Amino acid sequence: MITLDDPKLNEKLIRIKAYNQQYYQKNKEWLNDVSKQYNRLNKKKINEKRRAEYAADGEKQRLRAKNYLVKNREKRREYAKQYYVLNSEKVLEHNKQYHKNHRELRRSYEHNRKAVKFGIDSERFHDIEIFKRDNWVCGICGERVDRNLVHPHPYSKNLDHIIPISKGGSHTRMNTQCSHRVCNIKKYNKMPITQGVAS
Ligand SMILES: [Zn+2]
Repeated sequence: MITLDDPKLNEKLIRIKAYNQQYYQKNKEWLNDVSKQYNRLNKKKINEKRRAEYAADGEKQRLRAKNYLVKNREKRREYAKQYYVLNSEKVLEHNKQYHKNHRELRRSYEHNRKAVKFGIDSERFHDIEIFKRDNWVCGICGERVDRNLVHPHPYSKNLDHIIPISKGGSHTRMNTQCSHRVCNIKKYNKMPITQGVAS
């Protein structure tokens, strides 16, 4: 009988391992091809299996993913740089679309950031909430705001701070109103001393 600490078994295992390694080295190319093809054909099955494993053991997987990201930070940065060089047009277009689609969200972040900078009150809310509250009527000229017009159209929607942030106004629901972009700009141009930009 062979037991686990049997030197004969050990020898046998080492031989098998060496044989497997040799076999792999000799047949590397087509073995890789086969495995690639298998992965390609069973993509769905493999992904499902991974997902199931992840669900079953999420914490461990998350940790592994995190470690991987930390360990390969430089590599990823290099890869991103190269990707950008090779696909700069695609990346720029993607960023442009992203900014266009998330413009209001970004504005809302900017307002909150500005509020922190000037040390004034701020609430977290989405511009659209104020536009709806004001029934899409400009608080400066009293005319309707066409919700379909997009920036930089002069009559596109704009969040106006009744007392400007730069004058100590808060970024709160109380101090904001729906406005036309052009009305907002005009209002700022009329102000005697304007600091910062129209908001
Ligand atoms: Zn207006």
